[in-house]
Amino acid sequence: MPDDSADEVFERLQDIVQQAILREFPNPERKGCPGTEVLRELANRPRPTRDAAWEHVTHCSPCYREFLDLREQVKRRLELEHRQVVRRRAVLGGIAVAIVGGGIAAYESFERREPAPEELGPYLPASLDLRDASSTRSAGGQTVAAKPHVLPAKRLDLTILLPIGSEPGRYDIQWLKDIDKPLLSVSGNASVENGVTVLRVKLDLSRETPGNYLIGLRQPPSDWTFYQVTLRS
Ligand SMILES: [Zn+2]
Repeated sequence: MPDDSADEVFERLQDIVQQAILREFPNPERKGCPGTEVLRELANRPRPTRDAAWEHVTHCSPCYREFLDLREQVKRRLELEHRQVVRRRAVLGGIAVAIVGGGIAAYESFERREPAPEELGPYLPASLDLRDASSTRSAGGQTVAAKPHVLPAKRLDLTILLPIGSEPGRYDIQWLKDIDKPLLSVSGNASVENGVTVLRVKLDLSRETPGNYLIGLRQPPSDWTFYQVTLRS
């Protein structure tokens, strides 16, 4: 007994109709046949439209045969395109999972290796005097100061004396080896004290290896200015 689900009934009827069309209208002289291009256009339609061309095709066995072949090509192409879209989505989904997973892993390892604040001892007061720091423009349009400054590799309660004429307000601070790759990022508020613009931030340099670094300052939306700093143990 054949299965009588609606889809299967429809497919069986469709098959009967198709077989009938393929058999009943031989048209060996191909009278009134519209040609392959018209058949291809019909095959590319999302659904049949009742017009003269379609009327002909459903009453001409050779045209209908050609139409079914072309329709099969179109279906294969659409299926291929669909599979490519699905595969692309799967790849993008995989990347998103990797990014989120990587972020969680990084967060967890950061959480694990972060000792409790009381184990690390107090912040050491230190100052960075940038009042007469001469700076030069780098290739990227950013500014790098020439004169090196020295800081200890400790947890620092850092007082930065900003270059003369600096505005008070919010500043972003970066600690970095290479421009665009900050190792630490903090922000703080600068205020004018006795005519000097002073920025106080806590900067934990206790895990940085001694050597040459840059400290970057910017008052958004201004561009970064970088100053050379030598870190000593
Ligand atoms: Zn025909």
